[in-house]
Amino acid sequence: MNSVASKTSDVLVMTTEGEEFLEEVCSIPGGESVRWCIQCGMCSASCPNVAQMDNSPRRTIALIHAGRRYDVLKSNTMWVCASCYLCTVRCPKEVKITELMHALERLSTYYGLTTKRTTTATMYRAFIDSIKSNGRVHELGMMMKYYLTTVLTGKTNPFSLVKMLPLALNLMLHRRMTIKPTRIKGAEQIKTIVERAKALGGVK
Ligand code: SF4
Ligand code: SF4
Repeated sequence: MNSVASKTSDVLVMTTEGEEFLEEVCSIPGGESVRWCIQCGMCSASCPNVAQMDNSPRRTIALIHAGRRYDVLKSNTMWVCASCYLCTVRCPKEVKITELMHALERLSTYYGLTTKRTTTATMYRAFIDSIKSNGRVHELGMMMKYYLTTVLTGKTNPFSLVKMLPLALNLMLHRRMTIKPTRIKGAEQIKTIVERAKALGGVK
């Protein structure tokens, strides 16, 4: 996509295209507050995971204003966010940065731009599939689906599953995890709610 600013520059200029992306981000819950940002950098200075992010929280907002859709949605930033809310509580303009990160995860998934460096989206999908099948999450089934998908796509070392076995056995021993899923009475209604959310713009 076109962009008016170089990748390394911190001077990001507003364009018509920038307005479009900004409007899109503002239209989803959690994204509307990016308009209030004054680029003070408090969020980035507070973030414990900023060193692992392609773009800091402050820069992510600057990129949104500049219309750099691809650079924002293809980055690992939102997937590295630990939802600790430090940025949100310290922001002098009350920008909802943590919610913004989740909003960007949704947009990134929607446009098929999720970076290959994260497995979080796979985890979310396994969680939703489990809810759709049973009306509630079946932890063992969800984790098996997550591991098999990430192992088959080369994102997880197959031996990491072996490392998890003692924990899984311990949870089963203490009846915190069951082998068989239990289906709740209103499972079909839950499935309808999930399908409706998908039709309203949820993940594909
Ligand atoms: S702390 Fe708030 S105002 Fe400052 S750069 Fe971050 S989001 Fe913008
Ligand atoms: S909520 Fe996310 S972006 Fe904000 S400080 Fe915590 S890890 Fe960083």
